[in-house]
Amino acid sequence: MMDWLWTLVLMIAAFLGMEVFAWYAHKYIMHGWGWGWHKSHHETTDGVFEKNDLYVVVFSLVVVGMFAVGDLYWEPLMAIASGITLYGVVYSLFHDGLVHRRWPMRWQPKSGYLKRLVQAHRIHHAVRTREGAVSFGFLYAPGVKKLKKRLKQQQPSGAQHDR
Ligand SMILES: [Zn+2]
Ligand SMILES: [Zn+2]
Repeated sequence: MMDWLWTLVLMIAAFLGMEVFAWYAHKYIMHGWGWGWHKSHHETTDGVFEKNDLYVVVFSLVVVGMFAVGDLYWEPLMAIASGITLYGVVYSLFHDGLVHRRWPMRWQPKSGYLKRLVQAHRIHHAVRTREGAVSFGFLYAPGVKKLKKRLKQQQPSGAQHDR
């Protein structure tokens, strides 16, 4: 059996590491060669699901694989997989729930850090194209003023409205 403290440390490290990973994946994969799937998330869709949800499917399969391998060969991997799962749950609540209203919850943060997080992701969605977007993180976001300024610097005037 692994020491519980060691398990906890690994879980937290994996959770925090996921935010860094998600930032890179969002900026360089989803807004890079993976744009084909992610594009649907920057457009208005009618259905319940969008092509972008395939990323969730792929990441879930990877985590299931990590649990299986961890169970068989290396226990710490299960703690890491748990941290990633926890990140997935929080991400889903914040990103899909608070920002995109895909969960049936009414509460909307009116102040504080959560409001900033929601606004930061809305600014990410101000750009509908692969290039020129800002704010790629999900749990950490710089202040809104900073993001708006960066958005302006990156956008030639009017480019936000082009596809
Ligand atoms: Zn995006
Ligand atoms: Zn989004």
